[in-house]
Amino acid sequence: MSEERKLASVVTIKNITPIEGADRIVLASMEENSWRCIVGAGTYTPGDQAVYFEIDSILPQIPYFQENKYLVERKFRIKTLKMRGVISQGYIVPMQDTGRIFRECGQESWGMLHSGSDVTALMKVTKWEEPEASVNMNRPKDAKPFPNFIQKTDQIRIQSIEKELFLHKILGKKFLITVKVDGTSASVFWNARTKEYGCCSRNLQVYSGMDKAQNWLSKLRQWFAGHFFKQNPAEPSVSELTIYSTVPKQYGLDEKLPQFCRERNRSLALQGEIIGEGIQSNREKVKGKEFLIFDIWDIDHQQYLPPEEVQDICGVLGLKYVPVVQEEYIVGENIDELVALADGPGYNNDCREGIVAKRRDDPNVSFKVISNQYLLKHGL
Ligand code: AMP
Ligand code: MN
Repeated sequence: MSEERKLASVVTIKNITPIEGADRIVLASMEENSWRCIVGAGTYTPGDQAVYFEIDSILPQIPYFQENKYLVERKFRIKTLKMRGVISQGYIVPMQDTGRIFRECGQESWGMLHSGSDVTALMKVTKWEEPEASVNMNRPKDAKPFPNFIQKTDQIRIQSIEKELFLHKILGKKFLITVKVDGTSASVFWNARTKEYGCCSRNLQVYSGMDKAQNWLSKLRQWFAGHFFKQNPAEPSVSELTIYSTVPKQYGLDEKLPQFCRERNRSLALQGEIIGEGIQSNREKVKGKEFLIFDIWDIDHQQYLPPEEVQDICGVLGLKYVPVVQEEYIVGENIDELVALADGPGYNNDCREGIVAKRRDDPNVSFKVISNQYLLKHGL
């Protein structure tokens, strides 16, 4: 399930809990999500409406926020923090202050606000992105838009899943839990219909192994489509983009995947994380580069394969599957246990980025839990 992040939204305060040894601050929870956030004591009562900003939000530098020393010190970026042994994630402002915020953001009207309303754009909140290693952000000349027959890799955070969705698709269901490895995602596919072998980054197809005639046709098509295609500014640089074809090649995938699919008359996209030297901050601390598979998208049926089948195919192709944390985990009402499970060793380090849970009977349902230990350690 993908994460269309609502960084700022209208919430209803659910509980206010005192913090041991502190009389000026309390911990707030909200009805609409599962985040916990420290607020000033006496500012909110359960049932109050407010606006909540998630971690990774960058608030606009308007006078309202500039008056807050705490925000100025943190350059208006909302991070995970720990005070008096309590973890706080996010920032909350009272509903009464929203009129002023909107006006200072240049809004003249903002319509009716209700529980869950997304005010990210109205409040000019942007998303903090980890800076890329390289400065060259140009799209390589030969890159194409991400194939429309493959689902992009993305995961929603458990804390941001809305109540209804949680109750219907997650609560009480059985999940496979794997380590969230910390690198960059890649999709490698064979499309039997077009006889194309391709490698994709998160948002672009950067390599195409088609024969010359087909490649020429596809380029022509691209030329027409080019006018409607906008470059994604968060895409890695040209030199980094080559890893999306060289690393799968390191595993012989350019030959093995088409052969595997041809023999079975299938079209598949292997999705995994490329980790290693020169990628992100190589927090998994591996030598060279590795490709760890977490999903296989069935192009013919437009759905994910069940995890057992993914593991089997990895075995046949000689690929590594992401480490399994728990084979069967039934999600309960209280997500604290899952948040605790997110802390632990990674693929090759002792503080993993988190975990990803995938529903056993419906692999199209999945979510991530980022480790609080990891967030605190790396100042995120
Ligand atoms: P994020 O990195 O926060 O955007 O979270 C989503 C990404 O986690 C996906 O796009 C994948 O690239 C990556 N990821 C790493 N490990 C896994 C895993 N075990 N299962 C699914 N996705 C994973
Ligand atoms: Mn990532």
